[in-house]
Amino acid sequence: MPAQAAVRRVAVVGATGSIGASALDVIARHPGRLEASVLAAGSRVEALVSLCRKHRPRHAVIADAARYAALRDGLREAGLDDIEAHAGDDALQELVAGDACDTVVAAIVGAAGLPSTLAAARAGKRLLLANKESLVLAGELLTAAAHEAGADIVPIDSEHNAIFQCLGAGSREPGAGSRDLRRIVLTASGGPFRGWTRERLRGVTPAQAVKHPKWSMGPKISVDSATLMNKGLEVIEAHHLFRLPGERIDVLVHPQSLVHSLVEFVDGSTLAQLGLPDMRTALAVGLGWPERIESGVAGLDLLAHGRLDFEAPDPEAFPCLRLAYQALAAGGTAPAIVNAANEVAVSSFLQGRIAFLGIPALVEDCLAAVAGGAAGSIDALLAADAAARDHANQRIAAGALA
Ligand code: NAD
Ligand code: MG
Repeated sequence: MPAQAAVRRVAVVGATGSIGASALDVIARHPGRLEASVLAAGSRVEALVSLCRKHRPRHAVIADAARYAALRDGLREAGLDDIEAHAGDDALQELVAGDACDTVVAAIVGAAGLPSTLAAARAGKRLLLANKESLVLAGELLTAAAHEAGADIVPIDSEHNAIFQCLGAGSREPGAGSRDLRRIVLTASGGPFRGWTRERLRGVTPAQAVKHPKWSMGPKISVDSATLMNKGLEVIEAHHLFRLPGERIDVLVHPQSLVHSLVEFVDGSTLAQLGLPDMRTALAVGLGWPERIESGVAGLDLLAHGRLDFEAPDPEAFPCLRLAYQALAAGGTAPAIVNAANEVAVSSFLQGRIAFLGIPALVEDCLAAVAGGAAGSIDALLAADAAARDHANQRIAAGALA
């Protein structure tokens, strides 16, 4: 990098979460090159103030508007008067779109991340996209907005980041991916219940489901990994990022989580990206790109790991993967319906209101019952999202899935 290169100013949206922590860890390794200029969180003011103390952003945003005074006072009490406090979704969107940052780490969990992710894309920011639900909900609109505004999207989901890296070995011009590629293969750890039968899954508790064998992540994505819905969402995510139909996106269970995904080119070459399961690698790719920067992650000692195993996913025990493929094939608002139903189902499961197998049951029910339509506008997508949430909540209230 040239000696006088400008500092990259990064907004970390979802700073108090698991991805947020990994992003801030990488940023802190590169003073003079990277700066966390905006930190945003949902409602945990104390955690946000504590991050502000350490990372000294220019702006701190709490999405929950009712927490504004708490944030302002918390910053003042911590002696951080130079950090500007903001609250509410509109403030967040203005900040990610404004001059305070040139790069946005989109790491809110769920469809709640769509407005800020979209605002960053529309403003032409470099978008480090971890918030996969926004792509599942509105992939076409989001990628079109990024394209129009010249926003580069670097996927942070480890599988898509792996593919992003492998695609560097193909033709360089945008859109060449679908021509060069025969297929992509997303790897999946299989989650904590790999090898379990449907019968055995009946009694699964939230504590068991959030205990992922390989990755340390927030509760929602941990449950998604346990049902394999995470991989289903990732198939839809890959479709939007790499412009391939579902038939050319395969899933392979790989319990060691060292091969993060593979791409097969038309000439028969298969390229894979390997590394320890640590999201700081993907974040460093996005923060440094097109250069490579230190992430704090050690290299991979294959001798110590010994072996790499691969197996097919079990569609009987984990129907969520099939449901996601089905929604992708149906198109329109179907993926938005699946995503919303899944968000309600996971949250209800974590609250002990429905059983583990109630998650796929509820998603399947919503996909069949909620009318799908064209995904032409954000309003149409948000209406489908709301209809699916309504239907899902009614089914849960009726006690159908306990
Ligand atoms: P997490 O639960 O640990 O953190 C979520 C963050 O979002 C928190 O900072 C929270 O304050 C914020 N948030 C929640 N609701 C909000 C709202 N309405 N407005 C503003 N902020 C809000 O989640 P995570 O594991 O860091 O995952 C974040 C995203 O990254 C998810 O979409 C997940 O699928 C994706 N992802 C995570 C990992 C991982 O290793 N954790 C890997 C791949 C992809
Ligand atoms: Mg992933």
